[in-house]
Amino acid sequence: MSAVIVLLEVLPGGALSATSSGLLTAAARVGEPVALVAAPAATRAAAAAAAAELGAVRVLTADVDVDRLTVPVVDALAAAVDRERPDLVLASHAVETRDALARLAARLRLPLATDVVGVARDELGVVAQHSALGGAFTVEGAPTFGTLLATLRPGVVEGDLSAQPLVEQPIEVVASGVPSARIESFSETTAPSSRPELRGAKAVVSGGRGVGSREDFALVEQLADVLGAAVGASRAAVDAGYVPASAQVGQTGVSVSPRLYIALGISGAIQHRAGMQTAGTIVAVDKNPEAPIFEIADFGIVGDLFTVVPQLISALEAH
Ligand code: FAD
Repeated sequence: MSAVIVLLEVLPGGALSATSSGLLTAAARVGEPVALVAAPAATRAAAAAAAAELGAVRVLTADVDVDRLTVPVVDALAAAVDRERPDLVLASHAVETRDALARLAARLRLPLATDVVGVARDELGVVAQHSALGGAFTVEGAPTFGTLLATLRPGVVEGDLSAQPLVEQPIEVVASGVPSARIESFSETTAPSSRPELRGAKAVVSGGRGVGSREDFALVEQLADVLGAAVGASRAAVDAGYVPASAQVGQTGVSVSPRLYIALGISGAIQHRAGMQTAGTIVAVDKNPEAPIFEIADFGIVGDLFTVVPQLISALEAH
């Protein structure tokens, strides 16, 4: 069976992103899931073992001095493609990993399908599935040449592979021929949070411009905490400074596909819908009955979110 390379995201500390299991499961529908772990030495071994636990049949590792830098990851991907000759390279449709696959496509002149909701194999080869027209249709596209590169929308495939024997000696892939990126200094600040990661979360509560201020965004966070949900936002809310850019859901933010998506004060512009319309159940609260978000909502509440949400929180807390 041909290989499918799965680029896994290693979080600081060596844990794998919540999207990893779904990625490996999607890959196994098309070929042999081969994980690529590109991480600094301190976290590589733990991440490689975790990849085998999630069902990767082989684990490739690459020495990346500093994570969160794209060029060394692209070097590693290019070396892995050269070694495995896969039919498909799969990564999460997250900001960093889609950047890596786009660069790989440009470097190796390979076809790229972004934000796919599934991959499959037909008699001619690998096909990528896209959600179209607000989720009403699933359309398939196939490459006419070379290895397909695809980014998978987080949450659309549940992970269900069984663990593989722990990899004693993961295979090191070494990039060659391409100068590596150099940096002088690097620091990363992550606000500590006990909430689930937005990508791969089972439930997401998002706020938009209608929330009105950074202070009032606390109400969105309060509802999220009662539900054990991740916090998301529209671009208007991010641009207004209510929340960091990492919370943005949509075309230029994160794509999510949780079981439950609650939109508060979000009108439902096409660019926002692009990142959340495949959610299982969509609940919208907006004071404008004409807001386009109601076209895709399973449950719509026309009303002021500052009246509706506190009632919702009280009702949930009473249970
Ligand atoms: P608005 O459209 O202003 O909607 C606010 C809503 O809140 C309204 O429906 C209003 O009725 C309601 N409201 C106000 N007060 C209350 C209240 N008290 N109670 C209840 N409801 C209330 N947007 C994204 O979200 N994600 C993206 O990734 C993204 N990418 C983009 C990429 C491009 C190239 C472009 C051009 C745009 C992109 N946008 C994106 C922006 C998008 O077009 C919209 O401008 C944005 O989504 C609007 O955000 P919003 O719904 O919060 O604000």
